[in-house]
Amino acid sequence: MVVAHDDLAEIRALAAQVARERYEPIAEELDVQRKPISREQRMELGALGFLGIAHPEEYGGSGAPLAQALAVVEEFGKVCRPAAFQIFEANTGPAQVISHLGTHEQKQRWLPDIVSGAKTMAVAISEPDAGSAATDMITAAKPEGQRYVINGTKRWISNGGEADQYLVYCRLSDAPGSKGIGAILVEKDTPGLSFGAGERLMGFRGIPSADIYFDNVSVPQENVVVPAGDFSKLFGVFSVERLGNTTMSIAIGQAALDKTIKYVQEREQFGKPLVEFQSVQVLLADMALQVEAARLLRDRAAATAGVGLPDSYEVSLAKCTANEMAKRVTDIAMQLHGGNGYTEEYGIERLHRDAHGWAIAGGTPTMQRIRIVSELLGRKFDQRR
Ligand SMILES: Cc1cc2nc3c(=O)[nH]c(=O)nc-3n(C[C@H](O)[C@H](O)[C@H](O)COP(=O)(O)OP(=O)(O)OC[C@H]3O[C@@H](n4cnc5c(N)ncnc54)[C@H](O)[C@@H]3O)c2cc1C
Repeated sequence: MVVAHDDLAEIRALAAQVARERYEPIAEELDVQRKPISREQRMELGALGFLGIAHPEEYGGSGAPLAQALAVVEEFGKVCRPAAFQIFEANTGPAQVISHLGTHEQKQRWLPDIVSGAKTMAVAISEPDAGSAATDMITAAKPEGQRYVINGTKRWISNGGEADQYLVYCRLSDAPGSKGIGAILVEKDTPGLSFGAGERLMGFRGIPSADIYFDNVSVPQENVVVPAGDFSKLFGVFSVERLGNTTMSIAIGQAALDKTIKYVQEREQFGKPLVEFQSVQVLLADMALQVEAARLLRDRAAATAGVGLPDSYEVSLAKCTANEMAKRVTDIAMQLHGGNGYTEEYGIERLHRDAHGWAIAGGTPTMQRIRIVSELLGRKFDQRR
C-alpha cells in the first residue's frame, strides 16, 4: 500500500532513515559490481510511497509538491546513488511526461506500475550524432496504418537494457529541426528492439547504461505521448528531470562536505586535528558556500514549480551551479582526505566520479549557460549560424 506523505520534514526524515539503514550498507558493493538495485528493493521503495510522490493521486501517486520528491532523492543520493536513481527516474524522469502531457488512458496504463516499482521507464533522447544538439536526432517513427514503425539508434541511455519501457524522443513527422520531434513509448520486449553492451562508465556504476537499436520496431499509435509540433512542451517537462539531476549533485556535494567535516576533526597532523589549520577552515567554508548556494537555487525552482512545472531559467541556474559545485566540492574533499580520499574505502572518489556523470547528463553546464543567457536576453542564439 502506498503511504500518503504531505509533510516535507516527515518524508525527508523517513527517507534519510531508510537510506542510511538499508541502502548505505550496499552502496559500495553495487558500485564495485556495477549492479542496479533489485526489483524487490525497487518495489520496497514503491511500497514506502517514494516512487510516486510527484504523480497524481488518481494514478497511485501522492500528488505532493515536487520539493518532497526532491528531498527523498537527496537523502538517498547522499548514501546510495543506485537507489536514488530509481526514485529520481520515477518521480522526475520520463513518467513526468506521461503525467503532464499524456492522455487519461495513457496515465491509467503506465503510471501505477511506475509508482509501485513494478516497472521502470527510461528516457531515450541522445544519439551518436545528436548530444547537445538534440534536435539533430534522426531516429524516426513513421506511420503505417494504425501503428508507427521506428528505426534508429539511441546512445547513453541510463537504465538502458534494464528498464521495462522507453520514452523515445524521435521524428514523428518530416518537419525539420525541433518541429518534427515528439515522443513515443516503446515496451522493452517489442520485436526489433535491442541493446548494446553495458557501458563501462567512470561513475554511475550501479546505474546501467547502453545504446538502444530500433530495427523496424512497430508500436500502436496509442503509444504516441507527444505528437510532432509539441517539442517545446516536451522540453518544458524535461525541466523536472533537470531539477532531479540538480538534486543528485546537491546530495553528492553535501555528502562530501559531511564526510570532510568528520574527517578533518579526527585526523591529526603536526600534533593537532586538521581542522585547526586556517587553510583547512577556508576550504571547508568554500565547500559549504557552494553547497548552500546550489541548494537555495534548487529550492527556489522547486518552490516555483509547486505541483506543476518549474521555470526553465531557474532550473538552468540551479543545474549549472549544482553540477559544477559537486565536481569542485568532491575534489576539495579528496584533497582534505589525503591518501584516504583516493581509496575506494572512504567513498570520496565514488562521489567525485558520480559528480562528473550528473554534470554531463541532462544537458551540460555549457548548454545551461546558453539557455540562461537566452532567457535573460529574451532571444534565441542559433548554434548553427
Ligand atoms: C552519465 C550519463 C547519463 C546519461 N543519461 C542519458 C539518458 O538517460 N538519456 C539520454 O537520452 N541521454 C543520456 N545521456 C547523454 C547526455 O544527455 C549527453 O551526453 C549530453 O547531452 C552531451 O552530449 P554529448 O555527450 O554528445 O556531448 P557533445 O554534445 O558532443 O558535447 C561535447 C562538449 O562540447 C560542448 N558543446 C556542445 N555544443 C556546444 C555549443 N553549441 N557551444 C559550446 N559548447 C558546446 C559541450 O558542452 C561538451 O562540453 C547521459 C550521459 C551521461 C554521461
